[in-house]
Amino acid sequence: MIDIHSHILPGIDDGAQTLEDALLMAEAAVKEGITHLYATPHHRNGRFENERVSIIQHTNSFNEELRQRKIPLQIIPGQEIRLYKELVDDLERDVLIPLHHQSKYLLIEFPSSNVPTYAAEILYELSLRNYTPIIVHPERNSEIMENPDLLYDLIIEGALTQITANSINGSFGKKIMNFSHDLVKANMAHFIASDAHNVSSRGFHLNRAFETIQKQYGVDARYYLQENAELVMKGESVLIEQPSHIKRKKFLGIF
Ligand code: FE
Repeated sequence: MIDIHSHILPGIDDGAQTLEDALLMAEAAVKEGITHLYATPHHRNGRFENERVSIIQHTNSFNEELRQRKIPLQIIPGQEIRLYKELVDDLERDVLIPLHHQSKYLLIEFPSSNVPTYAAEILYELSLRNYTPIIVHPERNSEIMENPDLLYDLIIEGALTQITANSINGSFGKKIMNFSHDLVKANMAHFIASDAHNVSSRGFHLNRAFETIQKQYGVDARYYLQENAELVMKGESVLIEQPSHIKRKKFLGIF
């Protein structure tokens, strides 16, 4: 199994803090059935900046640690890129890392509370350069929760989305769980990933999410989501189902 989003590299963001933490995470990933794990440290989220060259160096040295300990897990360098105004300039400066060098998928994070007004414009600029944005955990963005059409419109323009396993599992509360299921049902979810930060409060739990999806939506839904991660890793085009609109929720009890 492939996991396209994790914070396993030690000491560079709010994920694993030490090599020991990272090794515990690697063992947990192997137990989960993960064979290939993208290390996607935060970049430009207001707290952490992790540029391409440094992420690749950290990935190489951690892969060497895994090899020495005979832990059967392959770490692949990636990056969780906060949407910021200079993103396109930084792509050209070569400080960002796509999930595949040919097919150019980028993990893009919005702020948790809103969708910036310049989001559509930057995503359009990316598409002109043949980059495909994968919007990470849209189910935790309060503006998208209130108005799912904001996400629908970005998907129609070519964006993909990654739902977090623990959202499906209910670890972020019932509202986020229900909304993440709404996104799956509306074909507005293209990937499930762990976004694991540790082995305690924010572990992998990918299997549990996939089992829930299989139980509720059938084995095809599970394969669709799992196969997309494989396709990204191979640099091939992902499978995209036609999305449908999600009706606006009755927040605050107002009809
Ligand atoms: Fe993350």
